[in-house]
Amino acid sequence: MATELLYREDAYAREAAARVLAAGPEGVLLDRTPFYAQAGGQPGDAGWLRWPKGDGVGEMAVARAVKGPDDTVLHLAAEGAALPPVGAEVTAALDWGLRHRHMRMHTALHLLCSLIPGAGVTGGQIGADRSRLDFDLAAPPARDWLTGQLNALVAADHAVGERWIAEEELDANPGLVRTLSVQPPRGAGRVRLVRIGPEEAPVDLQPCGGTHVRRTAEIGRLEVTKLENKGKQNRRVYLVLAEGAA
Ligand SMILES: [Zn+2]
Repeated sequence: MATELLYREDAYAREAAARVLAAGPEGVLLDRTPFYAQAGGQPGDAGWLRWPKGDGVGEMAVARAVKGPDDTVLHLAAEGAALPPVGAEVTAALDWGLRHRHMRMHTALHLLCSLIPGAGVTGGQIGADRSRLDFDLAAPPARDWLTGQLNALVAADHAVGERWIAEEELDANPGLVRTLSVQPPRGAGRVRLVRIGPEEAPVDLQPCGGTHVRRTAEIGRLEVTKLENKGKQNRRVYLVLAEGAA
């Protein structure tokens, strides 16, 4: 049975009640979860599962959430952590500070993508401290120009929205897909489109299954720290959240 993905409806859900369906060395399976499972360059969430135990509370630290078989999410226990009993009602709570940095970084990478139009994205990795995107590109823009443009897009405080479209609509508009290395998440004939900026003139519009902030001002100040040559046509752009931006 597929895990109900609560972050798909509300990326700001920090905790939720859920039931334990299975628990073992391969991870803890819940019927529903706010945890994002590692995919598409965004790390899996960390946090805690808590449940009533005797007169107190049982707790399992979640080191990371990963994808399990059949559209499930597995919550991996931190080393030495006791597992909750099968059938228990738990509160699944995120390490929100970490997740929120991932959301800011992830949304920032969409903005970076919008500043390098026409170049395919060949790879990427989101981190709490530093993120990167790889572009299929011969001549990249200057580092300072990118930093300035990114901060202008942040300051413009664009809204971030989403809608689901039919797979046929995406297939008819292949230009929407920027990532050459990651296929957009599909399921039940639908694909999730994430849009930054107004519907009539979006700053960025592409299929994405990750978690984003609601408005670009929430990202805070950004800095492009480095551009690296990774082969003749491959340019790697590194991005950090500037200090004090939270
Ligand atoms: Zn995204």
